[in-house]
Amino acid sequence: MAAGYEVSRMHMAEACGLLRHPDGPSRIAASGPTSAVYGLGDADAVRVGRATGLSACEVQAMTWSRFVGTAVRSELIEASPRERFRVMKASWIDPRELRFCPSCIDEKDGRWPLEWCTPWAFACLRHGCYLLAECPTCRTPIRAGIRLGQGVCRGFEKHHLTDAVTWRCGMEYRKMQAPDLQDKLLAYLQRLLDSHLSSTRLEFVHARGDFADLAAMAEFALFLAAPEHLDGADPVVVQSFAEFRRRSALTHGGPMLEEAEPMVRTAGLRIASQIVFSDNPWATARAIADFASRPLASRARPLHEAWLKRPPQDTTERLEGIVRSVRIAAPSTRGPDGRILERALYE
Ligand SMILES: [Zn+2]
Ligand SMILES: [Zn+2]
Repeated sequence: MAAGYEVSRMHMAEACGLLRHPDGPSRIAASGPTSAVYGLGDADAVRVGRATGLSACEVQAMTWSRFVGTAVRSELIEASPRERFRVMKASWIDPRELRFCPSCIDEKDGRWPLEWCTPWAFACLRHGCYLLAECPTCRTPIRAGIRLGQGVCRGFEKHHLTDAVTWRCGMEYRKMQAPDLQDKLLAYLQRLLDSHLSSTRLEFVHARGDFADLAAMAEFALFLAAPEHLDGADPVVVQSFAEFRRRSALTHGGPMLEEAEPMVRTAGLRIASQIVFSDNPWATARAIADFASRPLASRARPLHEAWLKRPPQDTTERLEGIVRSVRIAAPSTRGPDGRILERALYE
């Protein structure tokens, strides 16, 4: 909007009533304790409503508060400003991330929905493509807050000795090419998630369970699945997952989830959906990796340790057995003298 009126984002935010003296730019940042994107107080929402002609509800619908109870854990409402980012991360969302569909951006003059900052939006069903999370030319990641409508990629290369910029990408966001979505399974999943993201209060509980279960099983997949578990997926999804697995194999203690790019998490979600929505999630998960045998297979160890430290939250009874088995330690046994014998937990 700021770009459309040729003013700065700060001026536009002021005109919309989002900023009040002495608010600074941190108020319109994608994250940070004072960011308005998390949700507005009632008085703020009314003020923005007056300035823009929108109802307080419509104003709040543009903030994360819209997804509380579905994609975002309900703790967000009570969380102190400093805690908000942690709640978002625990909900599997990094508000600084952004994915986008170039054709939508072109049609809507740069406007984009907040869903695009979540891993729950990975494809545009209208244009039949994956959302882009990085520039296809130079692989510079897309971040929330950039001007997609008029903007160009700011990726550049520097001379390795002189530090002088030798090349600038300059690719227009709206002209970027997004990979085609052929995969029926991911298209189906995106349709389901779209309807969950727009669910009304009555459907909240059900949707929250699906989000929590999918996030937990995607984590399971990132730790334990292999590219062959992506049978039928589009090549771009398989390739990014294979690359992630290769990198993970080099690190001690399992994959670095923080380094899983959006496309890798989409791969994880695809595998997760096959577990979560199967008739027997336990058996489907166990076919991917035996998480329930004791001693525990060594490749299951990093997940075991990760979930001991931070178990998945809000998962439904569908996954109860899986979560319990991954977290359980080796059963202890007593020797003839009644003392507990150490049993090997790992192979
Ligand atoms: Zn689109
Ligand atoms: Zn670029």
